[in-house]
This record gives sequence, structure tokens and C-alpha cells, in this order.
Amino acid sequence: MDLKKYVALVEDYPKPGIKFRDITPLMGNGEAYKYATDKVVEFAKEHNIDLVVGPEARGFIFGCPVSYALGVGFAPVRKPGKLPREVIEYAYDLEYGSNVLCMHKDSVKPGQRVLIVDDLLATGGTIEATVKLIEELGGVVAGLAFLIELEDLKGKEKLEGYPVLTLMKY
Ligand code: 5GP
Repeated sequence: MDLKKYVALVEDYPKPGIKFRDITPLMGNGEAYKYATDKVVEFAKEHNIDLVVGPEARGFIFGCPVSYALGVGFAPVRKPGKLPREVIEYAYDLEYGSNVLCMHKDSVKPGQRVLIVDDLLATGGTIEATVKLIEELGGVVAGLAFLIELEDLKGKEKLEGYPVLTLMKY
């Protein structure tokens, strides 16, 4: 299936000069959403996953059906103030300013094999922070899956040594 048919290009969103890849048409099409999910599930099965982790918010949309299909749990990565119990935090730099991501301290058990799922890999900042959080909790990042990789932004360089699946490259 040609998944790129279901990705809309939005110029100058959220800021002038940015070309935003909108994956809501893909989510909105049952066949495309199932096809993409099945590809990630296949990849997960090759890597003996115990837990799926996804960054808010689009990582939930693609991670949760994978966790359901595998019969394993899902743990969310969220911005500060959203998780109600004790969290660990990781701060990382953005082009302008910085960002913090959090996970519940008990959401990953030591030794668990974790699959990270997100819609899109750009600079890799979000995903590098997610890897650090999981590893700090003692989890093993056994794979990372993205629908889209923006190759020019070189996010993959931050993920050397980890198995990575990307369904579409731009
Ligand atoms: P990074 O941290 O790799 O620079 O950015 C990736 C994060 O930003 C992902 O969580 C993703 O949801 C969001 N993101 C950045 N650019 C885009 C885009 O063009 N389309 C979509 N759907 N998400 C984006």
C-alpha cells in the first residue's frame, strides 16, 4: 500500500517555513491505519517486546493499537504536569528554548524490552529524551518505530545501534 497517499503536506504550519506532514488522513482511513499498525506489530514481534511507549499525543494514536495487538501494556510519555503520580523527567534543548518530558517512575520495569512508537522522527530530540527516560528506569529499548522519517533533519543519527523501522521517508 502507498501510505504516502494518506499524508497531507501543510505549508507554513505551525510556523512560516515549516512543511508539516499531517497524518490525520492516514488515521482516518481504516485500511491505511490498519496496514501501518500491522507493519509496526510485525516489527515488534521480531524484537520480543514486553511494553510499548509513546510520546504524547500522536505516539498514543499509533502506539496503543500496537500494544493491544501484542497483548502488552502501554506507557505514556507526557509533558510536565500531566501525570498524577511520581515521575522522572528529562530536559532537552530545542532550536529556541527547551522541553521537558516525563514518565511515571513505575511505568517501565527493569529489564523490560520496550518498543517506542511515534508518528514522526524529525530532529530526534523527542525520541532521544524518550530513550533516556526508559533507560533510566532500567528498560531495554528493543526497537523504535515511526510512520515518517524526515531524513534531512538526521534524527536517526541519535539512534545508532537501535533497531529502527520507518514506514515512509521524506
Ligand atoms: P523531533 O523531536 O524529532 O524534532 O520532532 C518529532 C516530534 O514532533 C514528534 O513527536 C512529532 O509528532 C512532532 N512533529 C514534528 N514535525 C512534525 C510533522 O511535520 N508532522 C507531524 N505529524 N508531527 C511532527
